Amino acid sequence: MNDPSYTISKIAEILNADARIIDTQAIIQYLIIDSRSVAVPGNSLFFALSSHRDGHEFIRDAYNKDIRNFVITEEKYVQEYSDCNFIVVANALSALQKLAIAHRSHFDLKTIGITGSNGKTIVKEWLYQLLAADYNIVRSPKSYNSQIGVALSVWQIEAVNTLGIFEAGISAVDEMEILADIIQPQIGILTNIGEAHAEGFSSKREKLKEKLKLFKDTELFIYSPDYVGEVSFRDLPGKTKFSWSSKQPADLRIVAVEPIEGNCYLRAIYKDREIECMLPFKDKASIENGMICWATLLALGYSAEQADLRLEKLSHVSMRLELKTGINQCSIIDDSYSADISSLAIALDFLNQQNQHPKKTVILSELFETGQDDFDLYTEIADLLAQKKVNRLIGIGPHIARYAELFQLETEFFEDTLAFIEAFPGMQFSHETILVKGARRFEFGRISKLLTQKVHDTVLEIDLNAMVGNLQFYRSKIKPGVKIMAMVKAFSYGSGSFEIANLLQFHKVDYLAVAYADEGIALRKAGITLPIMVMSPEESAFEAIIKHNLEPEIYSLEILNSFLNALSDYDFDYPIHIKIDSGMHRLGFDKKDVEHLSAMLKDSQRVSVQSIFSHLVASAEAEHDGFTQAQIDKFSAIATELIAVLTYKPLLHIANTSGISRWPDAQMDMVRLGIGLYGFDSALANNRGLQTTMVLKTTVTQVKTLDAGETVGYSRKGVLPNGGKIATVKIGYADGYSRAFGNGIGKMLINGNLVATIGSICMDMTMLDVSGVDVKPGDEAIVFNREHDIMELAKQVNTISYEILTNISQRVKRVYFYE
Ligand SMILES: *Cc1c(COP(=O)(O)O)cnc(C)c1O
Repeated sequence: MNDPSYTISKIAEILNADARIIDTQAIIQYLIIDSRSVAVPGNSLFFALSSHRDGHEFIRDAYNKDIRNFVITEEKYVQEYSDCNFIVVANALSALQKLAIAHRSHFDLKTIGITGSNGKTIVKEWLYQLLAADYNIVRSPKSYNSQIGVALSVWQIEAVNTLGIFEAGISAVDEMEILADIIQPQIGILTNIGEAHAEGFSSKREKLKEKLKLFKDTELFIYSPDYVGEVSFRDLPGKTKFSWSSKQPADLRIVAVEPIEGNCYLRAIYKDREIECMLPFKDKASIENGMICWATLLALGYSAEQADLRLEKLSHVSMRLELKTGINQCSIIDDSYSADISSLAIALDFLNQQNQHPKKTVILSELFETGQDDFDLYTEIADLLAQKKVNRLIGIGPHIARYAELFQLETEFFEDTLAFIEAFPGMQFSHETILVKGARRFEFGRISKLLTQKVHDTVLEIDLNAMVGNLQFYRSKIKPGVKIMAMVKAFSYGSGSFEIANLLQFHKVDYLAVAYADEGIALRKAGITLPIMVMSPEESAFEAIIKHNLEPEIYSLEILNSFLNALSDYDFDYPIHIKIDSGMHRLGFDKKDVEHLSAMLKDSQRVSVQSIFSHLVASAEAEHDGFTQAQIDKFSAIATELIAVLTYKPLLHIANTSGISRWPDAQMDMVRLGIGLYGFDSALANNRGLQTTMVLKTTVTQVKTLDAGETVGYSRKGVLPNGGKIATVKIGYADGYSRAFGNGIGKMLINGNLVATIGSICMDMTMLDVSGVDVKPGDEAIVFNREHDIMELAKQVNTISYEILTNISQRVKRVYFYE
């Protein structure tokens, strides 16, 4: 079977849609849904999908990146771009899916479909590792399992592939049918059914039934009876079935699960005989995912011995890009997740998004793109690097060096990783962003270790995807056209500075706000071009504010006067923001100032009021709703009065995070999103709908056994009347772990056990009571994460999440993750 080649006309025909085609022979290879990620514009087709934002808004951007083929729903663009091909459809997502179905139907390769509440991506990646020796596999990139992701995954199928492994995820009823049509799996795997993500379903049974729709036409269905209790056996899909369980009778009946050091030894009864396997993991989730893979290998006909040999070699799947501080002021992006063109493109996008230094270096191993000619592969990579404006390539491996002349940038090549490591001491790396991307067998972990600053073992991990998820959550709550000002004061509530600002700029928020001028200056120096409001502009910083084009909050007549004086004779229409005091009584103009203020603004050509705003004092608290309404009314009245004297209309805004959630009518022209971005909103019960963005971790330095009556720490505050065991961890009040957590108030998670502090918190260390818990030096201690959350911590010491976050000192290294 050949790969089908798609001209734009052929695609219009498949979609059975109206089209205006200028170049009928345009060949389409890539389907683009995000104008920021374009690799080969000439062969790309852009789908104007509508989700949080209307995809049509990005046609201009895609056009500027040389895309000339579009699927749209709004006809008016056809006139606007006379040199483009347009296919006009009723629904762009349906069109994308229809195209994927047509593509899938062209091939009859063996296909595994995976769904379930958890573990889909890991199981998919592990099956890839386990089966790669026997098949040429195409699989979903990262966790592409949505309505869009599944279509894009299936679009990758080529004639050389002999096995497809695709995951499907749903969040509501009636979503699975179409995914089943796109994937058309012959083999189905249900990983599990959890209580989580139940929101879109009325019951667990409804959720299960919907998920099972993926498998309606499968030959073989692999599942655990533990998760399908809600439907009768007769109603389960699959001509043949293969079950696994450690709790009840099953084809693979697991009878023993024994952790042995870092591994886990499993025994089971299979076809009336006892079999075994060793998994190189010991955590609960990995063990379950391992059981699913074990069952799959057996169901596919592998012998118990073959399965054991393969399972033992499984390796951890990290699907995340990791951004960390490197040597000589470099930033390192570590990505050894997969080494193919699509993941390289994703990593390069991230490199550009995290526009940390003007200079960009890529350290790249050979890629193993199946079925592609080396020359074509490296030509494509060279184009990609040029397009993403990479300055330097360090290529590792014998093949890539052969194509050196294709790369139009500074290059250096090494035979293998070891050769690079030997040359490393003589090489220059400074003030640049370095993407380290290599196939697993090149062991690039050793390279990133060389490049990474030694990390003090307490780190704050920030999940950038979660932050984007939170941004989208609030976007879905605001009315069309309402702008977003993202609050990045106090190092983005402790989470970082330009990393977060870069992310927000990439995701097109409208404004940023910082507390002090120097925070804004740091962002400008890092290349942030968004407008930035400075909330406490000190007079001494006016010059710097103007120089860096920062926009001061003007809160009094005095500050307005002195700012006007600081502007030069040539400045006019300098952007400022007027703060009204509607009840906070912190900064801002009072009603009595308004007349004077109006007069000054009316007379001055020097400044231009970008916005007028105020701040709510209790937007989350129902008991103060009367007061909040009064604040809104008071602000509106004053703003109206001010606008009356201006010849233009500034933006009005008053809502902070909880204001967005609880006061939809107070969104005005813009909202100021702060703590919600970082995963907290006291207006939502348990932050429902928000994702955890931060995890604070430290490490155990020493473990001691103490006799009865001994004491722990300063002033002998910690007492163990019956003796016991303590562990010392590398975090103290100087890191932001408040002394208030001492003496049993605070708790940390070690190997899944919640253990309490003992004695007073020291400056750089804390002691924990780990009596009866399996702990050794080097183990990780989690201060907070999704399960052991900040809200709980805040409650324990009578404060709020804001304070816990912003107290984490700059000594604690920040590491950013991005999928
Ligand atoms: C910090 C701040 C915000 C953000 O408040 P959240 O509750 O974190 O959303 C909004 N406006 C002003 C003036 C602020 O100082």
